[in-house]
Amino acid sequence: MTSYHDFHRRSIDDPAGFWAEQAQRIHWHKPFDQALQYDRPPFRDWFAGGETNLCYNAVDRHLAERGEQAALAYVSSETGIETSYSYRELHAEVARFAAILQAQGVEKGDRVLIYMPMIPEAIFAMLATVRLGAIHSVVFGGFASASLATRIEDATPKVMVTADAGLRGGKVIAYKPLVDEALALAGSSAPGKVIVVNRGLAEAPMMKPGRDLDYAALVDAHQDERAGVTWVESNHPSYILYTSGTTGKPKGVQRDTGGYAVALAASMDYIYGGKPGECYFSTSDIGWVVGHSYIVYGPLLNGMTTLVYEGLPIRPDAGIWWQLVEKYKVTVMFSAPTAVRVLKKQDPAWLHKYDLSSLRALFLAGEPLDEPTATWIAGELNIPVLDNYWQTETGWPMLTLCNGVEPKPVKYGSPGLPVYGFNVKLFNEATGEEVGPGEKGVIGVIPPLPPGCMSTIWQQDQRFVDTYFSLFPDKLVYSSFDWGIKDQDGYFTILGRTDDVINVAGHRLGTREIEEAVSSHSAIAEVAVVGVEDSLKGQVPKAFAVVKNPALLDDPAQRAALEKEVIAQVAAQLGAIANPARVYFVNQLPKTRSGKVLRRSIQALAEGRDPGDLTTLDDPAGIEQIRQSIEQA
Ligand code: ATP
Ligand code: MG
Repeated sequence: MTSYHDFHRRSIDDPAGFWAEQAQRIHWHKPFDQALQYDRPPFRDWFAGGETNLCYNAVDRHLAERGEQAALAYVSSETGIETSYSYRELHAEVARFAAILQAQGVEKGDRVLIYMPMIPEAIFAMLATVRLGAIHSVVFGGFASASLATRIEDATPKVMVTADAGLRGGKVIAYKPLVDEALALAGSSAPGKVIVVNRGLAEAPMMKPGRDLDYAALVDAHQDERAGVTWVESNHPSYILYTSGTTGKPKGVQRDTGGYAVALAASMDYIYGGKPGECYFSTSDIGWVVGHSYIVYGPLLNGMTTLVYEGLPIRPDAGIWWQLVEKYKVTVMFSAPTAVRVLKKQDPAWLHKYDLSSLRALFLAGEPLDEPTATWIAGELNIPVLDNYWQTETGWPMLTLCNGVEPKPVKYGSPGLPVYGFNVKLFNEATGEEVGPGEKGVIGVIPPLPPGCMSTIWQQDQRFVDTYFSLFPDKLVYSSFDWGIKDQDGYFTILGRTDDVINVAGHRLGTREIEEAVSSHSAIAEVAVVGVEDSLKGQVPKAFAVVKNPALLDDPAQRAALEKEVIAQVAAQLGAIANPARVYFVNQLPKTRSGKVLRRSIQALAEGRDPGDLTTLDDPAGIEQIRQSIEQA
């Protein structure tokens, strides 16, 4: 067995050789001329000259060997629908959907905007789009019309695919009126055709003649039509996906075709350890990068069954996920720390009601995985729980432990080591010098970025260079905009976003380190720390904490005592410099729909400013709580 160290070393020293081998994992219609073309840094072309197709590799390629195996298992705890598609059935649905898109004029390079709930048709639409060499842009279903409109304006789709409604916790969210509003706002960028999947959930949607088309009617009309595969050059874009918008205006991340397929196929082996024929369950949503890579493409490229779930983790009860793991014999599961924290508040008996012996590992990504949460879930499940650090931009993990190469000990609170292909370093923000173990720095990647990472910002090459590669004037480094530190063994810890670094009298503190110290107090369930302007110290940290037992807060004396205790605990762990000036208590934190804490809005409120753009906010009550907690104090 190669040591992980050597494996990683080789991927950095000889990227072309390393990835040329990995490229054998997918089907090439025409072999590539050059594994890595890097004559225009930071732009790079992986597998230049090669021709392939993402849909072919995800679907058609498996027909001979596993045509009757389930490709997509679908469960909705919202509608009660449970169904499954074999690879053969998936192929038929996708090839027909592609024929339908073709009939609406969709050609290679055209954009198809997908604004859908978690239903199989959403995945058919994605695969059908790339089958034609067209480019999908999935926008998380339920985004407000203004957010949708900006994405329509940027991607200028020829066709849009949507549904009458989504469901969340039993509540119907009508999509079509939002779509109509967004189309009106987008004006001349609006697509000429809108395909509507009518689930029969909302009041019959208003259908605009000539523009809106009913999907069921299209299926009838094109019943036996099947579109073939359009082969594309490896660097042809497969999709555009906008970042979550946590720090500001979302960026349209453009992904290639061949590099992405190769990167995902390799990751299934080295990171996730999923085997063809097994079931992979990612609890994310197709609107996010995790959904693209690990609900749709990763598992299918690898010949697995992907389990697609519409619903909450605690409805009808907190055992729903585990019930599905038992039923579908899930071997690999992928979720987010925020969901695990939700489960942690429920009766742990739910975790022991079902037979979970098929499950080999749980992967968590999207936000910091704090030690108490990781230890708790790993203890309950008694399997490895692995933290994956990555971004929409990278498409797949850049820091984690690659157990498929060499198992390494997990250190909770750390995602682990740089993933093969990623030359990850920590840089001093001011000098651009690399920093050593124990020193904080900006997490950067020395290019070329490996396959799977973004090619550019959609139609904005210069913005791509300016945004990601301009941290240092004389050094080409990809900046993650995250702040981290590594230990003597090379394990990284994420300290928060560079925008969120709190500067207290010249000391630079990551929000994450203070959050860890606060949440290690046994009464605290979750916390967000922000830097607030201070005339004396420049900035001071303020904490907004969710307590495990809300009853505690009814008594002002207890509340004050707890605040004191928490502050003392931070002082003990990090030194008095990190002391939160205040600890406010709330019942929930404002989060984006992808489960990320909206720190910029909390900070704005704490500084008495307007909270700014709240369109990505999941539940308005979260922001109201922050407002009230400040007013009451
Ligand atoms: P925008 O870039 O538009 O502000 P965003 O950064 O929230 O949005 P994503 O690409 O979905 O959009 O999120 C990536 C970010 O999430 C990372 O840069 C990091 O800050 C955070 N993150 C992801 N995984 C982890 C992890 N395992 N540990 C800590 N932070 C993580
Ligand atoms: Mg980001």
